[in-house]
Amino acid sequence: MSQQRTTAEWRALDAAHHVHPFSDAHSLNRQGARVMTRADGIYLWDSDGNKIIDGMAGLWCVNIGYGRHDMTAAASRQMDELPFYNTFFKTTHPAVVELSALLAKVAPEGFNHVFYTNSGSESVDTMIRMVRRYWDVAGKPSKKTLIGRWNGYHGSTMGGASLGGMDYMHAQGGLPIPDMAHIEQPWWYKFGKDMSRDEFGLLAAGWLEDRILEIGPDNVAAFVGEPIQGAGGVIIPPDTYWPEIERICRKYDVLLVADEVICGFGRTGEWFGQQRFGFRPDIFTAAKGLTSGYLPMGAVFLNEKVAEGLAAGGDFNHGFTYSGHPVAAAVARANILALRDEGIIDRVRHDTGPYMQERWRQVFGQFDHVDDVRGVGLIQAFTLVKDKATRTLFPNWGETGLICRDIFFRNNLIMRACADHMVASPPLVMTRAQIDEMLGVAERCMTEFEETLLRRGLV
Ligand code: PMP
Repeated sequence: MSQQRTTAEWRALDAAHHVHPFSDAHSLNRQGARVMTRADGIYLWDSDGNKIIDGMAGLWCVNIGYGRHDMTAAASRQMDELPFYNTFFKTTHPAVVELSALLAKVAPEGFNHVFYTNSGSESVDTMIRMVRRYWDVAGKPSKKTLIGRWNGYHGSTMGGASLGGMDYMHAQGGLPIPDMAHIEQPWWYKFGKDMSRDEFGLLAAGWLEDRILEIGPDNVAAFVGEPIQGAGGVIIPPDTYWPEIERICRKYDVLLVADEVICGFGRTGEWFGQQRFGFRPDIFTAAKGLTSGYLPMGAVFLNEKVAEGLAAGGDFNHGFTYSGHPVAAAVARANILALRDEGIIDRVRHDTGPYMQERWRQVFGQFDHVDDVRGVGLIQAFTLVKDKATRTLFPNWGETGLICRDIFFRNNLIMRACADHMVASPPLVMTRAQIDEMLGVAERCMTEFEETLLRRGLV
């Protein structure tokens, strides 16, 4: 599509004109960005011709894998027919109607209503406004505070970044906005050491009850959490956690919101993470896997109670030019049909997910500086630790993660470092043979990593 240039030319132009998200511009521009030029299945190619295993499905999103011509065809057809029309002023269009009806079928029972956005962040900000509006209409305007979790990630907009629990994000730009609160994350490895996982799950859920009582139930609008904290390092809660959270929310009349931006559309081997963990939110947000990243689109799903509650208030003064964009909707529908009709999610649940988890534990469990090897479906992680026996983390939290990530990257395997958690979230179409291929590369990288730790005197 673009002019052919050399890698050096692309890098120079990128450095001169392109501002990257979540990046230190000076250091990136000195180093130069890796230029990705094409992709197919689970593989990417860079401008130097290297074939790379994409262990992150782009950014946790390319669930059906790259290079799907049915997606291209759906987009192209829709662009020819109706490339854009809005849904604000008493109009709709077939693409968004068909998508909505299909989503109501694949969503957990009771979720028959969906509002569209262009991203996960917009979904979260939309949800925040909906939750507050819901309580206004219900005659309880004091219920305004949303409770999230430290280390949770809910996007980069003002609302999403405030609700998220990344303190380095709060430190920039005057965040958090008012009426946001946070509780500690259900991270058993760090906080639950001498407890069973199940005991710890109940304790961690109890932190929500404490916080609700502190703020006053009349002031709390909602609790929001990712079924599995993704960008926080794939923190998988104990099985006791979510049902207890749900019980607490019901007890205090607090809306329960799941942020399914990563867990949604098959990542855990179920359509949605809430199904894996056995809880029923009132609202859930989604994006990423909705279109497998082929086009930007997000969504907010509402149960009857919330949909009716909002409708009772008349106009809801909120929307985006591209809410329900026809081309994105057509692509989302093609993606969901593929996930469903090709049995991709079922395969993750019954075959490749369990296989990945077993092999993942075998491969990483053998290293001295790796612990808490974990995963569900096709989302998995391990934590780099200074001392396994005493469960001691590295003192400069995040430093070793970057060293490890860079070794993987140089060896043409993309995994992500979330501080000292190494995480993977590959396309859901990854086969057993490809899992073996990925873990073979990873094993060699880990050997190099542990040698590097020794050489640098970090252990
Ligand atoms: N919520 C969660 C759980 C996410 O993981 C992300 C993105 N990683 C977002 C919200 C924000 O989505 P986006 O980057 O599409 O705005």
